[in-house]
Amino acid sequence: MPTFSLPCAPIHMLDLRAQHAPIQHELNAVLQQTLEEGAFIQGPAVQQFADELSAYLDDVYVVPCANGTDALQLALMSLQLPAGTEIIVPAFTYVATLEAAAVLGLVPVPADVRPDTFNLDPAAVEAALTPRTGAIIVVHLFGQCADLAALRLLADKHGVALIEDNAQAIGATFTAEAGPTWMAGTVGEVGTTSFFPSKNLGALGDGGALYTRDQARATYLRQLANHGQTRKYHHEHIGLNSRLDTIQAALLRVKLRYLPQWTVTRQHIAAHYDAALGGIPGVHTPVRDLRSTHVFHQYTLVIDQEAPDKLNRRDQLQAYLQLQQIPSVVYYPLPNHLQPAYAYLGYQAGQFPVAERLCRTVLSLPIHPALTQEQVTVVAAAVRTWATT
Ligand SMILES: *Cc1c(COP(=O)(O)O)cnc(C)c1O
Repeated sequence: MPTFSLPCAPIHMLDLRAQHAPIQHELNAVLQQTLEEGAFIQGPAVQQFADELSAYLDDVYVVPCANGTDALQLALMSLQLPAGTEIIVPAFTYVATLEAAAVLGLVPVPADVRPDTFNLDPAAVEAALTPRTGAIIVVHLFGQCADLAALRLLADKHGVALIEDNAQAIGATFTAEAGPTWMAGTVGEVGTTSFFPSKNLGALGDGGALYTRDQARATYLRQLANHGQTRKYHHEHIGLNSRLDTIQAALLRVKLRYLPQWTVTRQHIAAHYDAALGGIPGVHTPVRDLRSTHVFHQYTLVIDQEAPDKLNRRDQLQAYLQLQQIPSVVYYPLPNHLQPAYAYLGYQAGQFPVAERLCRTVLSLPIHPALTQEQVTVVAAAVRTWATT
């Protein structure tokens, strides 16, 4: 078998080793310091990190927790909705968005997304609202804000809560027509995020946080995340053990300082891809909603299909790239309403056609702050060669 050799350094979908290399001395120093101080749970770095993230996010209250899925669960718990309440979620998202509702005995109700931005379609949300709806969870997928203006309006009009799952769009902003500029995650009653290592702001393990503008809700969320206790051994609520480890908070304090520059690098890479991949028939680069900035957690193409009975062209492109030693990932190959775990909700194939089509047509290319210009050129050239020969 002939061995193909890449005309650049090996390309990874995510390269945390390379991303951490320039700041390794800083990370080592805080690891050492945390080890020496020995306050591994609720140490001082946790509140310091919360304060610094708050400053980054327009002074919203920040409540750290153990991971992004817990953050969603805690957000829903803080709404105190009766079991059976319907929670509208995007039909195209990571499973955690529905999972958090399902484990609480709430009913996830998918609503279809827009084919251009992949984000929740406000018209589909409106059609899914019923007297049993208690909340809408919007996901800012791949790093670009959903239509926050329309969704905020809909939530207010129908008296339901808006939760923003901001695991993929930390630092993105949305500017409503003739309106203010909002930070993603600060528009809903509660915003949630994840510090899973692959996220734009990743810990060296699991982590998450909640945001809210309501001080009383912040206090309640902080209690819920710590066994529902109001003071030690006094439990007023049924809570969770969901705390951010001191060591992760200390590492995140370092990484938060680099987040703005990493975001700019991601945006430059995306612009480079846009220019190199523009105008290829059947290959669609990410569509920008001009009201939102895009922090490019993922750079996701849509690959047109020829006919339903033909081989999937997206899969063919992925296989071609793999032969060239270029990684790519399908986020997400199977919509949540067709996952075995959610069969009990009773949905069938065909009910959320946009989400289902995206699962067959999307392909995410490598985009991370350590990717070089040269590597981006190589990836884009391979896509173009595949599409045009
Ligand atoms: C990563 C992610 C989550 C879950 O975060 P964890 O920290 O892994 O629990 C939830 N929602 C979305 C959209 C995500 O991308």
